[in-house]
Amino acid sequence: MAGLLFGTGGTPHSARTASTIDGIKRIAELGLGCMEIEFVQGVRMGQAGARLVAETASREGVKLSAHAPYFINLNAHEPEKIRASQDRLLQTARIGWICGAESIVFHTAFYLGDSPEEAYNRAKKYLEEVMHQLKRENNRVWIRPEVMGKGSQFGTIDELLSLSTELEGVAPCIDFAHWHARSGEFNSYQEFASILEQVKERLGKAALDNMHIHVSGINYGKKGEIKHLNLKESDLQYVELLKALKDYHVKGLIICESPNLEEDALLLQESYNTLVKSG
Ligand SMILES: [Zn+2]
Repeated sequence: MAGLLFGTGGTPHSARTASTIDGIKRIAELGLGCMEIEFVQGVRMGQAGARLVAETASREGVKLSAHAPYFINLNAHEPEKIRASQDRLLQTARIGWICGAESIVFHTAFYLGDSPEEAYNRAKKYLEEVMHQLKRENNRVWIRPEVMGKGSQFGTIDELLSLSTELEGVAPCIDFAHWHARSGEFNSYQEFASILEQVKERLGKAALDNMHIHVSGINYGKKGEIKHLNLKESDLQYVELLKALKDYHVKGLIICESPNLEEDALLLQESYNTLVKSG
């Protein structure tokens, strides 16, 4: 993979229509490199549509990932909710794989008052079943639990690195905005670098060549994330983050989830390129 690619979470606002295909074309026109398909309200794309998406993306030279529906909780206490969560994740992985997506991002679980250990063990068990099923289907898309922004949500960096160590085919989606919002910290070069160090230590250096990252501005309070903001309206030290990514030679996809989508994706890409040129 060629270095770091920048893109949007969903179709850019300036695309001709909100369709995934027009989104991919707009990404290419803007000179961006990737896009995350948002199946957050449900997977409403069939196999034929997914094949068209794959053709368009390869023709336009745009890399893809896909975000699974929000309604997933691998720590749900009702068996039918677990099964529905696994099905939503599998469906995203199946259609995403046909689209040519490299990674599927999802929100793993809520603690629901359980201890983090209990939630971890349950989430791991049910995610492992999903991974076995995908393996049987010869589906090799990366499954990426996301770092979450609220203390009530499963998804600390440590939890995701543990899942990634224990389960084959699983790797983290590091959302730097969420992690900053959750802790109120992690907003300096040193702190960003410490996260990359941790990834390298736990998953090996190769993990830094295959990263999936979410970035946006963010508003937060005592309970963590409140809402996403545009970078320049937020306190996120994105240039420091980009410096750390450059110094650690991180490769992969950076998905911008600011409300202004492509504007901040372009801002990140330009800022990163400026850093690279200035050595
Ligand atoms: Zn997400």
